[in-house]
Amino acid sequence: MRKTMIVTIVSIIFLLSLEIIGTIPLGSSSAKDPIENDQNIIFIEPTQLHHNEKMDYGLIMAGAAANQITPDLSTQSPIFIGGFGRNRVATGIHDDIWSRCCVVQIGNTTIAFISVDLIGVMYPEYQRIMSYLDENTSIDLVVLTSTHNHEGPDVIGLWGKAIWSGISWDWYDGALSIIADTIKEAYENMKPAGIKLAHAIALGMSRDSREPIIMEEQVETIQLVDYDEQVIATMVCYASHPEVLWDENTLISSDFPHYIFEHIEETIGGTTLFIQGSIGGLITPRTQNHSYESAKDFGESIADISINSLYNSSIIWETHVHLETKEIFVPMTNPVFRIASILNILDRPLYNFRKDLKTSVNIIELGEDASLLQIVTVPGEDFPENWFELKEKMHAKHRIHIGLATDELGYIVPIEDYNPKDYEESMSASKYLDPLIHQTLENMLTLF
Ligand SMILES: [Zn+2]
Repeated sequence: MRKTMIVTIVSIIFLLSLEIIGTIPLGSSSAKDPIENDQNIIFIEPTQLHHNEKMDYGLIMAGAAANQITPDLSTQSPIFIGGFGRNRVATGIHDDIWSRCCVVQIGNTTIAFISVDLIGVMYPEYQRIMSYLDENTSIDLVVLTSTHNHEGPDVIGLWGKAIWSGISWDWYDGALSIIADTIKEAYENMKPAGIKLAHAIALGMSRDSREPIIMEEQVETIQLVDYDEQVIATMVCYASHPEVLWDENTLISSDFPHYIFEHIEETIGGTTLFIQGSIGGLITPRTQNHSYESAKDFGESIADISINSLYNSSIIWETHVHLETKEIFVPMTNPVFRIASILNILDRPLYNFRKDLKTSVNIIELGEDASLLQIVTVPGEDFPENWFELKEKMHAKHRIHIGLATDELGYIVPIEDYNPKDYEESMSASKYLDPLIHQTLENMLTLF
């Protein structure tokens, strides 16, 4: 008994000392301690991280696939639902949750877009999915994005019971391999294709719950068609929390994206993906109530806006592509997340004396001098204020922000608006997400 107590005390002292080390600024010897002065925050460029850039030109190929990742509640329960309060246990299935993928190849450059109906797949699990892809699936960049569904299983750990992680690994281990298989299937399904790009406004469909009231109301659509002009895949990019069903629902569902998939696939065929945008601070559907009918109305309206916007768009059969991918370290400054990390509720590795998280940002550009399309991928819930600042500097006809891409680091609060007492800050891994992510993306983009 005494021995156990001593071991426990020594372990706690050891963990606390690691925490203290983690909060001491280590000066310029560390990979990237932010240096703050009056106006600027300067980051020291790390060198030991993955960085890849590729340019190409050529004909287009595309393939799609979709697989369910719905848990089996008879064998895998309890499943804790991610989003809202803790300890919301799933009692049934309303509709399936999905892993939906579209692989696009331009010349010899291949990009996979994969969207999953989950609250936020984190970077270590993203890397695990990548490790399941072998040399038969040769992809330069996999953009895995979570829809941020608030009616699916917890994949972060924050929504379990008491001090325990809410992740059901019985279910999640299998789901991660299904996600990898979906990428492989989409890759194998590739055939000659063309790209259609379109956008339209979804005016007043969502609301912003934090001042200033700034929202991305554009629905951007990327569609891949084959040489008979049959739809291979439709990617609907729009920014709003999938939380129409709110916190009293205990049935597994993909919320309003379910009705986007159903409506588009019934109307024009192919595989539909919902790609989440800049939803920080906090963009949410403006609906009458929290019913499945409201989710249906909302999803079908977004689907119709997307379908109608495509009517006049021409098909691009060959184009230029530029992609760049960069890993970055982010100092984890949120004290509650640090404690959750010690308790293994937030189960992901920390680097540089347990100070930093590792994540990634990416850009994809199409057309000569990136004139057609510019995509930035952001590893969390970006405030639209940040996105618009970057978007104004971009020049492509279509500019898309993919949120929760390769990671979910929580809210990305503009640094000038950062107040540790506010809600979004309490759900943000770091005070420095905004400058770190946006400065890196700005350096990667083709800007004039
Ligand atoms: Zn959110």
